[in-house]
Amino acid sequence: MIQIGILAVQGAFIEHKHALDKLNVKSFEIRQKRDLQTPMDGLILPGGESTTMGKLLKDLDIFDVIQDQIKKGLPVLGTCAGMILLANQLTNDEKEHFKTMDIAVERNAYGRQLGSFFTHAKFGGREIPMTFIRAPYIPSYGPNVEVLSIVDNHVVAAKQGNQISTAFHPELTDSTYVHEYFLDIVKTHKSKNQ
Ligand code: GLN
Repeated sequence: MIQIGILAVQGAFIEHKHALDKLNVKSFEIRQKRDLQTPMDGLILPGGESTTMGKLLKDLDIFDVIQDQIKKGLPVLGTCAGMILLANQLTNDEKEHFKTMDIAVERNAYGRQLGSFFTHAKFGGREIPMTFIRAPYIPSYGPNVEVLSIVDNHVVAAKQGNQISTAFHPELTDSTYVHEYFLDIVKTHKSKNQ
């Protein structure tokens, strides 16, 4: 049976749990170091405020352990602030976080006017609803990155190995397609490592 850890120090983590509940997938919240003792087949980094999340990860002494697991291939889904945490480079911020995905990310990339919006676009070939809230996007990316979604000429979802990033919030719509897509990666990874 698969078990997904959801970083729950700040932000929209409970909505990810609801999405996984709908798919009958077990999850647990990561709030402190001892939570990382629970066996984890995949990790979700939710939306929220990336600077606060980055600081809490360090303060709680869970940053290094999580970074190490991602580097070793733990499947991870980063949504919005979660995408910012995974980015190799932030174009308009000096902060650095996990830096495990070869993407440059611009924070709050749509400005204040277009801060939040809803649209439909393709994700990995399937049209899905997308909710953007003070969202980032990916202005550039490395050769090992596969683009999964483009909205208004901007890359808003990408994959590199077992890592997936979305600038939008898949947990805030009715569609569970992004979670299903992620769970396929988790299952494949688990079966290879058993
Ligand atoms: N703008 C936020 C940040 O930079 C991310 C927004 C979100 O996760 N909805 O951290």
